[in-house]
Amino acid sequence: MVVNFHTVNLTKKHPLQISRGVHDKSQNLFIEIVKDGITAWGESAPGKTEGAKSAQEVKAHLTRLINSDINDLSIHEVCQRSKELKIPACALAGIDIALWDLKAKKAKLPLKDLLGLPKPKVPTSITVGINPPEIVKERVEMIISNPQVRALKVKLGSPEGIEYDKLIYSQVIESTKKSNIAIRVDANGGWSLDEAKLMMKWLAERDAEYIEQPLVEGDEDKLKFLFESRALPIFIDESCRFAEDVANNYQYVDGVNLKLMKCGGITEALKILNVAKSHGLKTMIGCMSESSVSISAGASITGIIDYVDLDSHYNLNPDPSEGTSMIDGVTMINSLPGHGAKLKTENYA
Ligand SMILES: [Mg+2]
Repeated sequence: MVVNFHTVNLTKKHPLQISRGVHDKSQNLFIEIVKDGITAWGESAPGKTEGAKSAQEVKAHLTRLINSDINDLSIHEVCQRSKELKIPACALAGIDIALWDLKAKKAKLPLKDLLGLPKPKVPTSITVGINPPEIVKERVEMIISNPQVRALKVKLGSPEGIEYDKLIYSQVIESTKKSNIAIRVDANGGWSLDEAKLMMKWLAERDAEYIEQPLVEGDEDKLKFLFESRALPIFIDESCRFAEDVANNYQYVDGVNLKLMKCGGITEALKILNVAKSHGLKTMIGCMSESSVSISAGASITGIIDYVDLDSHYNLNPDPSEGTSMIDGVTMINSLPGHGAKLKTENYA
């Protein structure tokens, strides 16, 4: 097995501001595995909260993992080894995605078929970042000018406070009143317990569909006080990294948002889905700053997921990878074997 790493710069069309800061560009590490004449692709989007700050760090961790001789291991064993070596989740995700791509290509099946999953059918939300209302107006109008778009995810939890959040959300309502668009809200842990109670009631009165990560990661013990008289369904994202976090928090949430970079790839994502479903929770899949390779891996499992936020690649200028498309608002995979996506040749040849 030959593993090649390719570091690629990603630039966003529009900078994305959330409660913790602004992101306008990133550097991702692409993992190319060549084995038995088959080329497979993975992608890792580094993140401070996912254990590796840069593509260089991801590469160093993955080199450590590969040097531990993983050639003859199953994917599950690679994940186990990765845990023993304390490889960050976002680094593991890159190689896990590539290994699943390889396995499906060997079987000559799309990854979703190898896993026995139905095809993607849920339209993706498109993210609207924290911005002054006049920019929110511009962005929302541009996003919904695409008639395929069915849902927006509005980022709140602004550092300016909940009055500013209300201005942003009110602008979204104003700009979407003539269209039939679902509106979801992600506070990214930007609220206190009292603010969350107030905002959830306020948002419920204004037709928000659900709230994601109202409280900061680490405040999970306060979820029960929010849950008992909640005005909106509660999803956790930052508070749910691995399957064990679902088991620890299921009593006080309505659903969980998994991300391949946060959990370590397809293998752990499937575990999260199993645990969430066995506790009767709703499921969601989101993304970090990812291109079509890891988006396509994620899209391969959306057939059994209730809510989908696989939209980061639409905000790239350009997307360095290819293989996904939007069909009727759904982030869709193609019918090729594997997850169906790859880094474009001009980025590494
Ligand atoms: Mg989120």
